[in-house]
Amino acid sequence: MWCGWSCPQTIFRVIYRDLFETKLLGLRKRIANKQIEPDWSKPSNQAKRVVAILLWSILALVAAADFIWYLVPPEDFFKYLQNPSEHTVMMGFWIGVALFLIADVVFMKENFCIYICPYARVQSVMYDDDTFQTVYDYKRGGHIYKENSEKHLIEKVVHNKKELQEVNGDNPECTLCESCVKVCPTHIDIRKGMQLECINCLECADACTKVMGALGKESLVRWTSYFALDSGEKTRVFRFRVVAYIIALSVVLVALFWMGTKKEHMLLNINRTSQLYKIEPNGVVENSYVFLFQNTDIKDHKYYFKVLDNKDITIKRPKKEFKLIAGKKVKKIVILQTDKPLVKDSKKDTPIPVTIRAYATDDAKKIVVDRKTVFVYPRWDVYQKHLKK
Ligand code: SF4
Ligand code: SF4
Repeated sequence: MWCGWSCPQTIFRVIYRDLFETKLLGLRKRIANKQIEPDWSKPSNQAKRVVAILLWSILALVAAADFIWYLVPPEDFFKYLQNPSEHTVMMGFWIGVALFLIADVVFMKENFCIYICPYARVQSVMYDDDTFQTVYDYKRGGHIYKENSEKHLIEKVVHNKKELQEVNGDNPECTLCESCVKVCPTHIDIRKGMQLECINCLECADACTKVMGALGKESLVRWTSYFALDSGEKTRVFRFRVVAYIIALSVVLVALFWMGTKKEHMLLNINRTSQLYKIEPNGVVENSYVFLFQNTDIKDHKYYFKVLDNKDITIKRPKKEFKLIAGKKVKKIVILQTDKPLVKDSKKDTPIPVTIRAYATDDAKKIVVDRKTVFVYPRWDVYQKHLKK
């Protein structure tokens, strides 16, 4: 259902090929025949192609912007657009994605689905005989292709009605009109059986429905499974692998909801500054940090923090709580200090693990986060020397 109906690649190709190239500009004669390429040597066709590419470029820029809005909010995006030289990364990303979309949709076409897209590869290992897909009814229509056991290849064995009857006996229903082949965007013949290139768009099923409908018969290409076709029974929907997938996905969903309840209403990132420590003349040892606070709540809050697991380490700066409006972040230089001899090691500096608890002073129960960092205590001989000075 994804490839043929929801994938942006398919939708973009339908817009470009069927709407721009075929309906608007008449570069291609019919949507029902996607196999005949326009004559690109004609200047009029080249001019139309330029128009089609320009039209698509506008949509590609919109689609690329839409993608970027996931990372840069639209209100900021339009503000930055007025000053592109100061936002070269965003501009480069935007134009780069748009250029990729133009190259992909205009030149790479369905080759992207056939040779590049990883989804088809993942999908193919999940297929089994009961998977719903586009299936040609060889029982009614007759075999058009047969396996050549010598060459290990599937080869076309039927080219006309006479050969069709010779191979399949009485009354095979396929009219050999090839409507299903002409309409296929990935240029395959569904009568060969399941193929990796098929995006299950069902355009071939629609084409055959018209042909067979005119004869008062049901389409030879249908949305069913090979099990249903071979056995004549119903597709087994609740089989082992489907139940296993449902259980696995349910576990993932429950884990997701559980993690959702653990949402932190503020973000805190702690980095140490490049200076390991500072020893004041009065013997107090200080460590400096940069705390990056972000208020992810929808309300403004006041924040402060404390050192949880070492009562000898206290906060020198900032001295009091500070206000942060909803959605904003702020960098704070934080200095922790101690006037106690925490470690007397004359061989090396000692990093002492500490836990910082930051919280909203107006809602300390809900908005609280704990972060681990270290307080570096100097070598004892260095500390002593410093004091003597
Ligand atoms: S074989 Fe049919 S369903 Fe598959 S891609 Fe071609 S037209 Fe679409
Ligand atoms: S459209 Fe139907 S009848 Fe025509 S070639 Fe395809 S399967 Fe046969």
